[in-house]
Amino acid sequence: MDGAALAARLREEVKQEVAGLGHVGLATVLVGDDPASDVYIRLKHKASDAAGIAAVDYRLPAGTTEDELVELVEELNGDDTVDGILVQTPLPEQIDEARIMRAIDPMKDVDGLNPFSAGQLYLGRQTLVPATPLGVMHLLDEYRIPIAGSRAVVVGRSSLVGKPMALLLLQANATVTICHSRTEDLARHTLDAELLVAAVGVPGVITADMVKQGATVIDVGITRTEAGLVGDVEADVAEVAAFLTPVPGGVGPMTIAALLGNAVRAARYRRGQLAFPLI
Ligand code: NAP
Repeated sequence: MDGAALAARLREEVKQEVAGLGHVGLATVLVGDDPASDVYIRLKHKASDAAGIAAVDYRLPAGTTEDELVELVEELNGDDTVDGILVQTPLPEQIDEARIMRAIDPMKDVDGLNPFSAGQLYLGRQTLVPATPLGVMHLLDEYRIPIAGSRAVVVGRSSLVGKPMALLLLQANATVTICHSRTEDLARHTLDAELLVAAVGVPGVITADMVKQGATVIDVGITRTEAGLVGDVEADVAEVAAFLTPVPGGVGPMTIAALLGNAVRAARYRRGQLAFPLI
């Protein structure tokens, strides 16, 4: 499944929408100098620039306190030029991530990590949904992968990927199993999956003998190795799966495209063009 090609198309659509709106503002906040986070922020800015989104890159030192970060988030909440706010995770250990996510105005919550956004997803009333699982749903739609009635297995249960992925699939009427590090006999579950999403971060955790013939396999994992970026799924899974996302070039570009889509959605909420559920 070619995530790069679909992402390029979606980004072009976003560009047209941004032109129609006149201004879409995205504020990204990075605390500290984690090299992987720096790469992600740069990619998000490059894509924003290309789509005409006015992205502002806030960089704070690693020793920033929780109160200082909350103060910046509140400033951005009140800034009329900012439609979307993204605080890059992981945050340094002195900062309580949950408090920061709670501080983000739900209407500007383009990462979907505020408890209001997450609660809406839980209730099946979407607002802003985390970009990675949203990007996966776009890919499944593009390739016309049947979801309703199918058996889906999500490996990973993080708030950013695994859980929202499972909820989106459930909402699309799949029968969903969630696996994690304490799951016994992972293969027993994955072998049953017509749709398998791996969001673990352990290279090779999914091998060909764990995959049902003809399954759709989505590899969300990204691990940096000396050989470059690798996913969670072994290469020989391609011989068993009917559809498979590559790493890189699969879910990664879709995440960025979906994030830009979220920024446009947030801008429409703020302009009253889309109804935002009252809090
Ligand atoms: P995370 O917070 O570390 O969560 C990893 C999940 O995998 C946890 O739920 C963990 O279980 C589970 N797990 C760990 N080892 C396992 C094992 N051996 N068998 C089964 N489950 C296992 O990571 P994340 O933020 O969800 O990200 C997951 C991966 O996706 C990472 O590689 C990350 O870099 C990548 N990612 C990619 C994109 C993209 O755009 N492509 C975006 C976001 C993340 P417990 O809950 O029991 O600990």
